[in-house]
Amino acid sequence: MSEETLPMSEETLFTKIINGDIPAERIYEDEVCICIKDISPQAPTHVLLIPRKPIPRLADATAEDQVILGHLMVKAGEIARLLGVDEAFRLVVNNGADAGQTVFHLHLHILGNKTFSEQGLGL
Ligand code: AMP
Repeated sequence: MSEETLPMSEETLFTKIINGDIPAERIYEDEVCICIKDISPQAPTHVLLIPRKPIPRLADATAEDQVILGHLMVKAGEIARLLGVDEAFRLVVNNGADAGQTVFHLHLHILGNKTFSEQGLGL
């Protein structure tokens, strides 16, 4: 197959949001990531922290992505503080369809202002 006939790589929903092609309520952004409100919140506070790089799943991340992953974890804490939920929040990453992943562009769910069960990780 010549290069011309190769299919164009599809942009993810989150890349379209990052590029401003789809609107979203932005909470925070920097050169590595953006944070938006989840369109269908599962807790009174529910935001998504998304790297600009479209890593499909956490399991697809490599050592090359270490700085991005570390950045996301530090920002998750800062954003929780910004949103006033740093005393109690839950950080969720769904990896794969059977784990509930629907958008194949890595993202961290930050959920707060809700009392979560100690007994299980189900939301
Ligand atoms: P996951 O199921 O872990 O892949 O999470 C995807 C999340 O993206 C879900 O919580 C959706 O509610 C959320 N979502 C889907 N479309 C949008 C959108 N246009 N803006 C904000 N959040 C979205």
